[in-house]
Amino acid sequence: MVQDLLVIGTGISGLTFAIKVAEQNPNYSITLISKSDINEGNTRYAQGGIAVVRNLKKDSTEKHIEDTLQAGDGACDPEVVKFVVEEANQRLNELIHWGMEFDKNKEKLHLGIEGGHSEKRIVHYKDQTGKQIQQALNAKVKTFPNITLLENHTLVDLITDHHAPVKKNRCYGAYVISQEQEEIVKISSKITVLSTGGAGSLYAYSTNPSIATGDGLGAAYRAKVQMERLPFVQFHPTALRDKVKGNVFLITEAVRGVGGKLCTAEQEEFMLSEDPRGALAPRDIVARGIQKQINKQKEKFVWLDGSSIPKKQWKSEFPNIYKTCLSIGIQLPEDPIPVVPAAHYFCGGIKVNHHSESQLKGLYAIGECSATGLHGANRLASNSLLEALVFAHRAALDCLKALQKPLPSDAFYKALPQWDGEGYSKKNTLDEVPVLRKKLQEIMTRSVGIFKSTQSLQQAEEKINDIYLEVHQFYNQNKLTNDLCELRNMVSIAYLIIKQAQELNENKGVFYNHDYA
Ligand SMILES: Cc1cc2nc3c(=O)[nH]c(=O)nc-3n(C[C@H](O)[C@H](O)[C@H](O)COP(=O)(O)OP(=O)(O)OC[C@H]3O[C@@H](n4cnc5c(N)ncnc54)[C@H](O)[C@@H]3O)c2cc1C
Repeated sequence: MVQDLLVIGTGISGLTFAIKVAEQNPNYSITLISKSDINEGNTRYAQGGIAVVRNLKKDSTEKHIEDTLQAGDGACDPEVVKFVVEEANQRLNELIHWGMEFDKNKEKLHLGIEGGHSEKRIVHYKDQTGKQIQQALNAKVKTFPNITLLENHTLVDLITDHHAPVKKNRCYGAYVISQEQEEIVKISSKITVLSTGGAGSLYAYSTNPSIATGDGLGAAYRAKVQMERLPFVQFHPTALRDKVKGNVFLITEAVRGVGGKLCTAEQEEFMLSEDPRGALAPRDIVARGIQKQINKQKEKFVWLDGSSIPKKQWKSEFPNIYKTCLSIGIQLPEDPIPVVPAAHYFCGGIKVNHHSESQLKGLYAIGECSATGLHGANRLASNSLLEALVFAHRAALDCLKALQKPLPSDAFYKALPQWDGEGYSKKNTLDEVPVLRKKLQEIMTRSVGIFKSTQSLQQAEEKINDIYLEVHQFYNQNKLTNDLCELRNMVSIAYLIIKQAQELNENKGVFYNHDYA
């Protein structure tokens, strides 16, 4: 059956979008897919919160706009920044109406502060804002009978004119692996929405879960959809040095907001010599400051000293960090926390208009996989959950209108071919996939990380090309698996990041090439 809408991704952007459309029109059929279970994605790991102007005695939308533009280093789209900041309260109130709870101080929402913000404006739920949002949206989305949720389904490719017998210059849905059935199914749809999140897993050390492999970006690239600002990868300055149960654990900026200091082993607050704002400078500056410090000392980490934060506050405001640190023998507030920068957020992505539509008709991108113009060269902390809410709303309104217009007939969608899986030799010799994935992550970390150079980019390009050739061969010879799909996307996006980085000729925001210093 032809779906009205296919939404690929169940983080804050995909769920918000699906809820909005279903609320407006209970007759539209909406299929919602996630690669893992509904919960897994960047959203549920968000700690800090959502940036919204609430305290009008001290704060204003003008100040939030100014902070966003400043962090973006002159590369934001001012019109986008203005409407996102101005629409923030409406979207936040809807989220609360859907069941999301934020921390309160008496009757008012408690406001935190993070790097780059001139006022307290981060609404949050303890240090587990993302988990709470994910749970609230999961519950809400399941109340709509016209939404079909398919977990453990992997987007392989978008269906476009490349597959269609008659060319209509649109997106017509997607080919998807049903992991349980081990088969590739065609889901045709009038509108397709990519809400597939970021690609932090391109790097050896990332705060993102391992499924963040840029699949939506890879599929859009193969569909020849324009992408921009991919080399603007934000590194979070403070991830815990030691992995916890195999995962990188983030220490939210909010800890520095309430007095956490960045120090060397000799207790020197080294960030003060990098920027007058010290540990609360925007993320790019702090991440580079930490990496620079690490490069010139023996230890491969710096210390986050939270001894000025009372134990009671640690336990009430940062219970997850408190517990996690304790589980690996760090007793807060007495013990300092060893921290390192980690790949965190993709400022770039699929180029979209003010309603989140890409340049291919019928294909929308929302959330971290999109490039809306909000973040410019560097995202201001806690602006990404906000961006997802605002653009999910705008995209939903636009799609509702688009579905009223003449669209290809049901017969046209039915005539689209099934996935062509013939031709495989079904060798299934895929033991090399994890080895190549690790190799790619090492190359990206070493040569395309916080600090780059013209030479390091050139070397990375050659090595990534070799991996591309191997992956291409696997792809042609083997039955497609989830892991192979991920690697195929990772290698394409790594290549694109390098090519776009080579075209940049100045340092801006998170992008830093030694040769332009
Ligand atoms: C540790 C951490 C802390 C953060 N803290 C904050 C914060 O405090 N404030 C803030 O504003 N931002 C924060 N961020 C960033 C923010 O959480 C993300 O940018 C945002 O949640 C992204 O939402 P999304 O809906 O775009 O994607 P995600 O939440 O990443 O969801 C992606 C979805 O796409 C699906 N998917 C991916 N590939 C495929 C495929 N091939 N097939 C099918 N489905 C697929 C996944 O299964 C998942 O459902 C943080 C991020 C991290 C990692």
